[in-house]
Amino acid sequence: MSIPTTQKAIVFESFGGPLLYKDISVPAPKPNELLVHIKYSGVCHSDLYAWKGDVPLPINLPLIGGHEGAGEVVAMGENVSDWKIGDLVGVKWLNSSCLTCEHCMNGRETVCPNADITGFTHDGTFQQYSTADAIQAAKFPKGTDLASAAPILCAGITVYKALKTADMIPGQWVAISGAAGGLGSLAVQYAKAMGYRVVGIDGGKEKGEFVKSLGAEAYVDYLSSKDVSNEVNTITEGGAHGVLNVSVSTSAMQQSLEYVRVAGTVVLVGLPAEATIKTSVFDAVIKTITIKGSAVGNRADTAEAIDFFNRGLVKCPIKIVGLSEIAQVYKLLEQGKILGRYVVDTSK
Ligand code: NAD
Ligand code: ZN
Repeated sequence: MSIPTTQKAIVFESFGGPLLYKDISVPAPKPNELLVHIKYSGVCHSDLYAWKGDVPLPINLPLIGGHEGAGEVVAMGENVSDWKIGDLVGVKWLNSSCLTCEHCMNGRETVCPNADITGFTHDGTFQQYSTADAIQAAKFPKGTDLASAAPILCAGITVYKALKTADMIPGQWVAISGAAGGLGSLAVQYAKAMGYRVVGIDGGKEKGEFVKSLGAEAYVDYLSSKDVSNEVNTITEGGAHGVLNVSVSTSAMQQSLEYVRVAGTVVLVGLPAEATIKTSVFDAVIKTITIKGSAVGNRADTAEAIDFFNRGLVKCPIKIVGLSEIAQVYKLLEQGKILGRYVVDTSK
């Protein structure tokens, strides 16, 4: 397989600065890394935050964003085993972790203090060739539709892990706030496949029809509803056993404390900048509500989330555009105009 010396990439040099579509060198993999020919990459709301510098995470400039890359192994460092040239591979948000700290040892590698993050501290997947630690890279079987697979690498893994974090049992209600977005549209499907009943919350009629078409039993439109909490409490006859906050709205997160069921779990996933939520201690104690944060997933979560995809149980509704069109996709994300996920084709 011949590897070119230069490639196309989207590079930004300052927060909110121009997203330059330009020719750059193809990186060389380090001894522990794969060189991946990225064919498709999903565009996550977190990419927009990284470009704007709107997130309290380390970011190295200049930067190539993107952390939902699906492609093919074209080269590898000398310490890599367990991969072959031509294998199909996913490049995720967690590019590498130290594997030796307390968190890594306990399967919480996503909170490793030495984590290297794709599209934040490690050049990401908005380029034709990117590098990825061979241990963290995700495996896809031969024949996988890489465009559809790309959103699983952040959105899919994240919502699958968040659903596990909600500690529900099949038959219980989960409320998904932000149900029509990239994370939400997959969350509805994972929840259904895991045996939960879904009430989706998002804005507008079109998003409602979309969310229901993915398997939600009920939909609450926060733009037209007089009282979202009351509606959810009525639909679920007493509140949702679990809530997944995958919206980009602080007020929606706050509101979720009003419709979680007694003894239920609120999971925080969306990351609006500087968001805080407040709870009455009395309510939290007497209702014994659990509030948990959840960030992406570890290697086991990754393999499990991909298995649901491989078995055809979840499929993110995608729209494919060229890599050169990232700026327009960011605009649509910002305006909340996307149903499901945009995926970029790196050849265009
Ligand atoms: P998205 O823009 O595709 O989806 C967000 C959805 O929220 C949209 O459908 C929007 O209409 C909806 N929304 C906005 N205000 C709402 C409200 N008041 N009530 C209900 N819905 C509302 O974004 P995405 O890519 O799915 O990401 C969602 C969030 O999750 C972002 O904040 C992103 O940074 C974060 N994220 C977190 C993790 C993690 O590991 N914790 C991983 C990936 C993304
Ligand atoms: Zn993401």
